[in-house]
Amino acid sequence: MSGPHHPRLEALGYSEHFRAQMAKLGDELYPARVVGQHRRECDVTSEKGSTRAVLAGKCWDPDRGIEAADAQPTIGDWVALRAGEPPVIEAILSRRTWLSRTSVAKRGAKQMLVANIDIVAVVAAFSHPSADSATAKRSLNPRRIERYLLAIAKGGAKPLVLLNKADLDRDAERKAQSLEQRLQDCPVRPVSCHTEQGLEGLNRFLTPGTTIGFVGLSGVGKSSIVNALLQREAQAIGEERAYDARGRHTTTARELFLASEGFILIDTPGMREFALAGPEEADLDAFSEIAEMALMCQFRDCGHRNEPGCRVREAVGKGEITADRLASFHALKGELRELARDRPAHKKPDKSRHKRAAASGRSPRKPRGQWEES
Ligand code: GDP
Ligand code: ZN
Repeated sequence: MSGPHHPRLEALGYSEHFRAQMAKLGDELYPARVVGQHRRECDVTSEKGSTRAVLAGKCWDPDRGIEAADAQPTIGDWVALRAGEPPVIEAILSRRTWLSRTSVAKRGAKQMLVANIDIVAVVAAFSHPSADSATAKRSLNPRRIERYLLAIAKGGAKPLVLLNKADLDRDAERKAQSLEQRLQDCPVRPVSCHTEQGLEGLNRFLTPGTTIGFVGLSGVGKSSIVNALLQREAQAIGEERAYDARGRHTTTARELFLASEGFILIDTPGMREFALAGPEEADLDAFSEIAEMALMCQFRDCGHRNEPGCRVREAVGKGEITADRLASFHALKGELRELARDRPAHKKPDKSRHKRAAASGRSPRKPRGQWEES
């Protein structure tokens, strides 16, 4: 049935896992992959090409087959369609893997970002040794990377760590190796979009039918990597011909791409939001020199602004710590405070607080006096 210009199902990531489910659903339904999302409609691609499809008048829980409010098709899902004008999405096939985030706004509800993704690449970046890029230091923080890996593991996708901007650090290979040792079981590759170092080597992960996507802080080079990987004639899936429910021609978002090498690349705003899921206490690790000084401040809750006996400000005065570094530190602390304010009050106490206290400048040990901000 596959037309000359339409990819076969396997090329879109279809596999036995989905075929078995379709077999149980009967002959009238046919499989398609969700490549774009709208309020009550989805852009889907099948062997018949791409079209806009509407949801049946119910929601589906892909795993239990019952109605559930949060079970909506998401980018990357395989769905069972009933032919028609427009076609109707009758079922979401049980997902092989997924990437989800916990919504702060919705009080911990799980938000499905992408489904059936094989590899989620965590992108971090090197910076020039003399440059002071707080983003790069945060992104290279092993604890932050481990948090990403934990979130990825929940949905069953395979992780891959890309340390981009390897051109900026002579020690990139060695640092990548030592991180790989720490993370175990997760490949870590230094790459550079500027020199193309390491990009060729990614081919072994990017086999035909494999779906890959990228997460990481903004500025680490996710778009650059996507562009580099897709430079050789990629086709935005579903873009060639889509109509909405009323038959109007529409432009679909460019979110799923089929590379000429045969892998599928997902690049959605949702995944970018995952990347921007907010700062974490672990990010303070990047400011170890400030944390060390802070242990010697007169007040254990010193904010390093205008408190008396502040060793951190003293160090800035002596040029031991740059004003830039302290400003970045304050900015991060501010973001963390805001996040803490937005969190539901019934949150469980955090057992790792004491370990982090050293990094945040609050000594968990002897109080040395209290500083009241006036
Ligand atoms: P994104 O926010 O993660 O999508 O990051 P971008 O792809 O927009 O890149 C952020 C900045 O990093 C841009 O100014 C890029 O030119 C730069 N950049 C990306 N890749 C590299 C690289 O391999 N080496 C260097 N030195 N800079 C890079
Ligand atoms: Zn201080």
